[in-house]
Amino acid sequence: MEVKAAVIHETGGEFKLEQVELSDPRDDEVLVRVVAAGICGTDLGAVHGHLPIPGPPSVFGHEGAGIVEKVGGRVTKVKPGDHVVLAWDYCGECTACKLGKELYCLNFFLHNFHGARPDDSATLHKGDQVIHGSFFCQSSFADFALANERNVVKVREDVPLEILGPMGCGVMTGAGAVMNSLRPRAGSSIAVFGTGTVGMSAVIAALAVGCTTIIAVDVNPDRLKMAKEFGATHTVNAGEVDPVEAVLDLTAGGAEFSLECVGNPQVFRQAVDVLPRLGVCGLLGVVPPMTEVSLNMDLIMNGRTVMGILGGDAVADLFIPRLIELYRQGRFPFDRMITYYPFDEINKAVMDMAEGRVIKPVLRP
Ligand SMILES: [Zn+2]
Ligand SMILES: [Zn+2]
Repeated sequence: MEVKAAVIHETGGEFKLEQVELSDPRDDEVLVRVVAAGICGTDLGAVHGHLPIPGPPSVFGHEGAGIVEKVGGRVTKVKPGDHVVLAWDYCGECTACKLGKELYCLNFFLHNFHGARPDDSATLHKGDQVIHGSFFCQSSFADFALANERNVVKVREDVPLEILGPMGCGVMTGAGAVMNSLRPRAGSSIAVFGTGTVGMSAVIAALAVGCTTIIAVDVNPDRLKMAKEFGATHTVNAGEVDPVEAVLDLTAGGAEFSLECVGNPQVFRQAVDVLPRLGVCGLLGVVPPMTEVSLNMDLIMNGRTVMGILGGDAVADLFIPRLIELYRQGRFPFDRMITYYPFDEINKAVMDMAEGRVIKPVLRP
């Protein structure tokens, strides 16, 4: 079928809205009419060639939410008309998948970054030309997206679908890191470094699970103000003071939990240095491959833990409905991070995000 998609024709170039052809769903696939698609830092990394993906022309987008239009013959999870959020894909066969750790799928790249289905067949064409799609098994910067039954999450229909796209990546990542990975007890302290979508979702989740000291660290005063509205008990402007000293002062010796949500070796070091003994630092920030960091070995040896976390350790089918329930109860107001843009303003949305004017731009194709 003909669909309208935002195509990247050269590395680092602008999005161009074009008509392209999208394949029909195979037996295990789901065609989704995209209602909203969040823009995530990983999309911009893909545009700029920082991911190990095939070169342009490409269609990105991996925070899609929409309505099922058509399903393949063997699909039982959803039916046409269902509301769905699109999440990350996985193989379902490898050791990690069999352990229920789908986000750490050993075939992750093949299922999310291959530019086509895992068997090399392309889902997007323009005339004779292949367009790389299947980004996170969706390529949702388009009015229709082709997903697999595995990575569609059915959601309740009494919640506005247009807010739910970011649940599939950024929101799930930040909230899941707190609720699934770190699991702080009520009354704990946590320091969140970086308050984009991921960090801000972590702040909201920290409040939801009962953390009583929630310190947001950033260099953007507007975001710190917003973090406070979301439940941060303290904010630290790392552009004005030494964030490590500030967090150690505020917590009388260290934050029991910390999260690095920036993707910066210096910030990672700070997030580890604020831990007391038995403290745990979760690393969420995405960095280019082969990025190295120096840490204080002696500090870590004394009972501190550093853990890398993908996608908030979430099983999307289980976790996204839980977050939506918290949202319905007013305990997870993540939608206040969103700024909406019409689809044809995608380049403006990207610029506003890159310059820190908005936290989570969401397109409405
Ligand atoms: Zn797998
Ligand atoms: Zn993402």
